[in-house]
Amino acid sequence: DDRLTSPERQEDDYGEHALRPQTIGDFTGQQSLRENLTVFIAAAKARAEPMDHVLFHGPPGLGKTTLAQIVARELGVGFRATSGPVLQRSGDLAAILTNLQPRDVLFIDEIHRLQPAIEETLYPAMEDFVLDLIIGEGPAARTVRIDIPPFTLIGATTRAGLLATPLRDRFGIPLRLVFYTPEELHGIVTRGARKLHFALSEDGAMEIAKRSRGTPRIAGRLLRRVRDFAMVENRTADRAMADAALQRLEVDALGLDAMDRRYLRRIAEHHGGGPVGIETLAAALAEGRDTLEEVVEPFLIQEGLVLRTPRGRMLGDRGWRHLGLTPPAALAA
Ligand code: ATP
Repeated sequence: DDRLTSPERQEDDYGEHALRPQTIGDFTGQQSLRENLTVFIAAAKARAEPMDHVLFHGPPGLGKTTLAQIVARELGVGFRATSGPVLQRSGDLAAILTNLQPRDVLFIDEIHRLQPAIEETLYPAMEDFVLDLIIGEGPAARTVRIDIPPFTLIGATTRAGLLATPLRDRFGIPLRLVFYTPEELHGIVTRGARKLHFALSEDGAMEIAKRSRGTPRIAGRLLRRVRDFAMVENRTADRAMADAALQRLEVDALGLDAMDRRYLRRIAEHHGGGPVGIETLAAALAEGRDTLEEVVEPFLIQEGLVLRTPRGRMLGDRGWRHLGLTPPAALAA
């Protein structure tokens, strides 16, 4: 998925690192989550114990990895990162766990994609800081229990519902990330522009903020593209300039891209506004159901463009108007 407005990580996002906040004080938005984390970090430090395991869940690009790094830095411990799909065998996980320093943070991105056997290895590690290793094969096989350093697991997932219940239950601190407001994104864009030595006007920053789908990763990406246009065309980066650049990038006034609009139009034009099942939509749009549910829909639903009903997806009143179409009388009433 390499759309400009995809919230998923892409190859040319390396420029992101420069924009990544380093401390919890630098981190904009997610206020209640931040306040809670601050308390848990202080308590763990005061007790000189590892912090309880944390599960971050929410749409991609909202700062789960960034927050995990910040937690480790604030705790003053080491940070080790891996991801669900990367861990292929229980031995991979055992090697990581046995090499941690006491109280380190282990970050597992896309933790809902762990192999079941690795999940099983994780349970006693999370609960009692032990590993049950199987030595030998066949009838001679036996289990040896070894201690590992006490650690904090930080898991990240796009949807907590995708996690097996026994895994989910082992996280003492589940925290949900929410979309950012345009004002919060304005702050992030302004700080980013300063770091890039890019003279962006206040209203130019707001234009980018409003069109970033509530997502810092997209804001950072649009900021870099607007900067490219400003530089090459030698224009002052103000609201008109940002608007022109974003239009050329086919990011509309709400921050929706071609995929979003295709999704909305499909429901309007082929299903009379719905309800239509997610599988039907996924097939028609040649997209994975997971991508629709985890990447495309959350923002459309939050904005009232789409409604999720027990019988399927429906176009919201706002969705109709955004497409420039008149909602059926029943909806408008
Ligand atoms: P994924 O779902 O791919 O794991 P993520 O939720 O872990 O994504 P991050 O990689 O942490 O997202 O964040 C994406 C980028 O957005 C970061 O590089 C960072 O620059 C920026 N970012 C995220 N949150 C903030 C924030 N609160 N303030 C400033 N920048 C942020």
